[in-house]
Amino acid sequence: MSILTLKNICKTYGKGNAKVNALNNIDLDVNKGELIAIMGPSGCGKSTLLNILGCIDTPDSGSYFLDGQDVDFKKINGLSDVRNHKVSFVFQNFALIKEFTVMDNVLLPLKFRKTSKKQRTDTASKYLKELDIWSLRKKHINELSGGQQQRVAISRALCQETEIILADEPTGALDEENSKKIMDIFCSLNKKLNKTIIIVTHNPIVADYCDRTLHMKDGRWIDK
Ligand code: ADP
Ligand code: MG
Repeated sequence: MSILTLKNICKTYGKGNAKVNALNNIDLDVNKGELIAIMGPSGCGKSTLLNILGCIDTPDSGSYFLDGQDVDFKKINGLSDVRNHKVSFVFQNFALIKEFTVMDNVLLPLKFRKTSKKQRTDTASKYLKELDIWSLRKKHINELSGGQQQRVAISRALCQETEIILADEPTGALDEENSKKIMDIFCSLNKKLNKTIIIVTHNPIVADYCDRTLHMKDGRWIDK
């Protein structure tokens, strides 16, 4: 069953001579429980596509069906609901709050849940431990290496425990060993909990873990 469907998605940035066609009539069908890699050269539209899937950006035209529902990009409240409950996102540049501790960054998306503080802390702790950064929980983000920040960003996404996880180059700041550890975690979430996961990557090791790899160029698929 399809959990994500895009039809004819177009997105341009800028105007006149500065106009960039970031996405040109993109179609996509993702089944529940798929683990997918998206690859392609820098600037080909991968992040734009992932941002639209995560309802962080809006397309100029086309439709998006998420879990059978037509996503209305004009409804801001509806979109924040999608972001909070349906889809979690690992940002390419981490998007962590520098002034906060590791624990407070991971707790942030859980703040809007109707769960007790203890439950929220337990969930955050579980994923900090899983990603081997529990010992860093009281540190501030600017005290961490790039690889450690990446693992905080991944923990923050995982602790939302959504059905769909979108990750924009989640191993970009990691060495091979740590990239494999991250992929083992994504794979186990995929296999054991049937999570649907889409990963934008330049790393062929990451793509090897995935069921399907889609290649993009100039805002289009080059094979599917
Ligand atoms: P990728 O993630 O594959 O590197 P992006 O989706 O970030 O590519 O970008 C696709 C194209 O859209 C690029 O040409 C990029 O410069 C342009 N672009 C992306 N975001 C913006 C923006 N906010 N404003 C203007 N141009 C943008
Ligand atoms: Mg990108």
